[in-house]
Amino acid sequence: MNNELGEELCLLQPIDPLPADADTIAQDFRRYLDYHLGRFLGCDTVYLYHALAYVTRDHLMADWRNTWLHYQDPQLRRAHYLSMEYLIGRSLGNNLLNCELAEPMREAMERFSIRLEDVEAKEPDAGLGNGGLGRLAACFLDSCATLGLPVIGYGLRYEYGMFHQHIENGHQVEDPDHWLRDGHPWEIERPEFAQTVHFGGRVEHFTDAQGHEGARWTDTEDVVAVPYDIPIAGYRNKVVNTLRLWNASATSEFNLMEFNAGDYAEAVALKNQAENITMVLYPNDATENGKELRLRQQYFLTSASLQDVLRQWDGRPIEDFAKFNVFQLNDTHPSIAVAELMRLLVDEKRLPWEQAWEISRSCMAYTNHTLLPEALERWPVNLFESLLPRLLEIIYRINAEFLAEVRARWPGDMERVRRMSLIEEGPVRQVRMAWLAIVGSFSINGVAELHSSLLRQGLFRDFYEMWPERFNNKTNGVTPRRWLAHANPHLAGLLTDTLGDGWQADLARLEGLRPLADDAGFRERWCEIRHYNKQRLADLVAHYAGVRFDPSALFDVQVKRIHEYKRQLLNILHIIHLYNCIHSGDEERVPRCVLIGGKAAPGYVRAKEIVKLANNVAAVVNSDPLVGERLKVAFIPNYNVSKMEVICTGTDLSEQISTASKEASGTGNMKFMMNGAVTIGTYDGANIEILQAVGEDNFFLFGLHADEVAALRPQYEPQQYIDADPDLAAVLQLLESGHFNAVEPGIFDGLIGSLKSPHDPWMTLADFRSYIDTQQRVEQAWHDTERWSRMSILNTAASGMFSTDRTIAEYNAEIWRLKAIG
Ligand SMILES: *Cc1c(COP(=O)(O)O)cnc(C)c1O
Repeated sequence: MNNELGEELCLLQPIDPLPADADTIAQDFRRYLDYHLGRFLGCDTVYLYHALAYVTRDHLMADWRNTWLHYQDPQLRRAHYLSMEYLIGRSLGNNLLNCELAEPMREAMERFSIRLEDVEAKEPDAGLGNGGLGRLAACFLDSCATLGLPVIGYGLRYEYGMFHQHIENGHQVEDPDHWLRDGHPWEIERPEFAQTVHFGGRVEHFTDAQGHEGARWTDTEDVVAVPYDIPIAGYRNKVVNTLRLWNASATSEFNLMEFNAGDYAEAVALKNQAENITMVLYPNDATENGKELRLRQQYFLTSASLQDVLRQWDGRPIEDFAKFNVFQLNDTHPSIAVAELMRLLVDEKRLPWEQAWEISRSCMAYTNHTLLPEALERWPVNLFESLLPRLLEIIYRINAEFLAEVRARWPGDMERVRRMSLIEEGPVRQVRMAWLAIVGSFSINGVAELHSSLLRQGLFRDFYEMWPERFNNKTNGVTPRRWLAHANPHLAGLLTDTLGDGWQADLARLEGLRPLADDAGFRERWCEIRHYNKQRLADLVAHYAGVRFDPSALFDVQVKRIHEYKRQLLNILHIIHLYNCIHSGDEERVPRCVLIGGKAAPGYVRAKEIVKLANNVAAVVNSDPLVGERLKVAFIPNYNVSKMEVICTGTDLSEQISTASKEASGTGNMKFMMNGAVTIGTYDGANIEILQAVGEDNFFLFGLHADEVAALRPQYEPQQYIDADPDLAAVLQLLESGHFNAVEPGIFDGLIGSLKSPHDPWMTLADFRSYIDTQQRVEQAWHDTERWSRMSILNTAASGMFSTDRTIAEYNAEIWRLKAIG
């Protein structure tokens, strides 16, 4: 009996879909609540949501199984998306939308006098990611399913997701996010597909009976990886793909050994050590910290996922493996996959090195997400040696053969060899993970045109000279199901009335809105919906930040991770400038409500100071009677996906103000645009493509371009800008006077010093004047209600290309080459 693949023996049959009428749903809901969960109707708890989630999951089951059966076709090529992060948010509403269950569900709930929205709001966000990179992975899965592509997502089932942020006296305070505490109704545990992952130990080399050399990795500490599957429903197409998340658990043999030795407590402690691997998501966005546990996590994800794919391949000729399998590496985090696949093929499958290398580098593709040097992962060689000794040997051999190629191509160019080596020499020798990903992949992409071109010209230049054909661009996107159809139901209704149904999976059709920008009646409907969404956002801000926003004011929003390169400080300088204007009697200003939100990495001191400054400035501005309704400032705590679903629909002005060349793409910018916000932004990342799509008249561009930033850097003198600009001088003077920290002297000295330093990498003051002037142009445009609503409509109309359906179609056409099902 084939026990491991139990399903090969049992009858692989489809199951029937369940009836989706309101009566049946109402009955099933009661049965889950009363008989499964043991809770009362009328209890206002998370269990109402659990019951409804189970009902919904039942409705996904038939399509999930059918999709899976479809993927068993041996002639089907499949892709495997490897990502350390999936920032999923809530799933109920999205699944109801994609599976067309929202209406019967709503009707069923009405029988119990329950509002569907209230139940949806009980779902905790699945926060298995930091920010843009993790959210991109979640949007990608939605689009893969919608396009009917055989793609499985692999990730880690962190027990603790992204921390919750709350604000105390203006400071960020972190609380653990124990999101699994009440259970996770979407997942199905599949212990029958568990994999074992090795750590530590040592390597023995031997020659087998046939005279072939081999390596044996022995005396390892083993950890079991147990998969938990989450269904990913496509939009109205009956495709349900899988997100497979690995959970670390101790091996039973290991415990038994300790137990027999009588050392029970030691056994339990070791069990914890094994299970620690998936305990917590590292809360650093775009920075790495070289912690051993993080490397353990990366290897755990990679090894378990590759073994899982090879398990499914078992029995087929390994020569064909690359023909039917492709792996997409989401950043360098899973790039150890290059060496791990080699280990599995050479040590376990006993393939010759050359053949294994040919297979391996034909099925790996790598996406780079940032140019920031601090985010480029490097691991100390000695850490690798103790944790993954066999993988280090493999990396050394890959490097030796690769550098031989470099030397053959550029004889005598020692400097080039040094630059390109997978091992960085120095006091601490380090493995360069991005280089490993590049050398081991057939495709290397950036995430927006500018970013991809900067990779080719800068960071990856040597590799581009060697293998130009491997480099390509895939501009990011966002899924219009979550970010438009679900987040903005009123606008979605208007779009359907206007464009007909189907735009949700064919977003280019938004172009059809263009002529309507000139239609006064349409603009009026547009503005009514926007007003409703702004009221909804104002309610959110009142609830979480205790600040009253008037929906008739300009809603100016910057929400994203707090990072110096994203320049929340520039935004705050502008707020202080507006405050100064009000105090000096400038009556021309437009009433404005500024919203800032985002989490700072707990160890990132400067970012936390920025949070504190934003909160302090808000407190001073909001309590100043002279300011009144003209300016409101709020910091919304615990920015996450479910909050963004409200925020992006009620925003007038989207702040995308990074130092040019620093934001690889951005995706928040796309969510705002899709929902009719106008962008004020630098010439950076995907802002450039947004600007090109919507036209200069409908985008507020400011600031230095990437080449100007680079040219200015050696001679950057912030004091010159201060001396030349009385507005800037006044802003800095007020900051330095302690106006915003009267009872906490000196706390912002570090921040102010960084702004005034010639070494400020973000060159905030260089863009101040351009930003202030452009904000003034924003106000002029806002004065003209008709012009603004026209711009708003044209932004949504031009946002079609920022659907991840377009992005994924490009990944598929140029990298994956999968055949869609259905
Ligand atoms: C979209 C999104 C991001 C990414 O925002 P950027 O502005 O592109 O950095 C981060 N966090 C959440 C919760 C998001 O929804």
